[in-house]
Amino acid sequence: MQSKREFIKTAVMASMLLAAPAICIAQDTPWAEIGYDRILVANTNGDRLAVRFRTGQRYDNSNLQQLNWLWRDWRAGGAHRQIDPLLFGDLALIQTRMSLDFAEPKLILVNSGFRTASRNATIEGAARNSQHVQGRACDFNMVGVSPALVVGYAESYGVHGLGRYADFTHIDVGPEGRRWSG
Ligand SMILES: [Zn+2]
Repeated sequence: MQSKREFIKTAVMASMLLAAPAICIAQDTPWAEIGYDRILVANTNGDRLAVRFRTGQRYDNSNLQQLNWLWRDWRAGGAHRQIDPLLFGDLALIQTRMSLDFAEPKLILVNSGFRTASRNATIEGAARNSQHVQGRACDFNMVGVSPALVVGYAESYGVHGLGRYADFTHIDVGPEGRRWSG
């Protein structure tokens, strides 16, 4: 039979486990390229970038421009626009948490970032007023991890838009509470 002391110890450990995400948000990572204010990201055109987009509450505009360029619609001549930096914050959060849990840096591979309206219109199933067109979305893989697992992390952080697909995950920083499966 479990003693009272052991019961309390178990209860305290359980509460520590529940509190773990909040604790981990405050901690830093062992990797220079991974953290809540920086991102390690590539696109399917072969570009790769490790960049700090924020220091404290301040965004670094020149580094954001590098990310805007990586997010460009390279299938449409490299058209690009300003991307909502909150998206990078959400991605960095998911990347940091997953890297810590897997104990190795996880690379974000962007399949589709910004899309021109005309190219978006050619994509089957894409919303006409897609968050991709507005510079607020990302279809991506966390390299080496199944999308089903990525969805769980994204959901736990309450991302605004979350699309579940067999081969990738969509997140965006548009209106809250949108969920779908493709
Ligand atoms: Zn998408």
